[in-house]
Amino acid sequence: MAMKIVQAECASCGDCAAVCPTKSIVEKGGIFKINADTCTECDGVADSPKCQDTCPSGDSCIVYL
Ligand code: SF4
Ligand code: SF4
Repeated sequence: MAMKIVQAECASCGDCAAVCPTKSIVEKGGIFKINADTCTECDGVADSPKCQDTCPSGDSCIVYL
């Protein structure tokens, strides 16, 4: 149960990392990735994934694994 970032859609703005309650979104060399081992899909925290709701690139940028 985790989300992933579609790199072709990502603008590397960092907005998703700022809202992640589990600190699962990390940036390295300008590439943002979601740690599937710690992402909870925001279960128990929000009704839908906060990263996806925040992403300015739309729902196709952050998708369910
Ligand atoms: S779904 Fe929630 S826990 Fe998972 S990466 Fe997005 S904001 Fe973080
Ligand atoms: S909010 Fe969207 S565009 Fe910005 S870094 Fe995260 S996945 Fe990429």
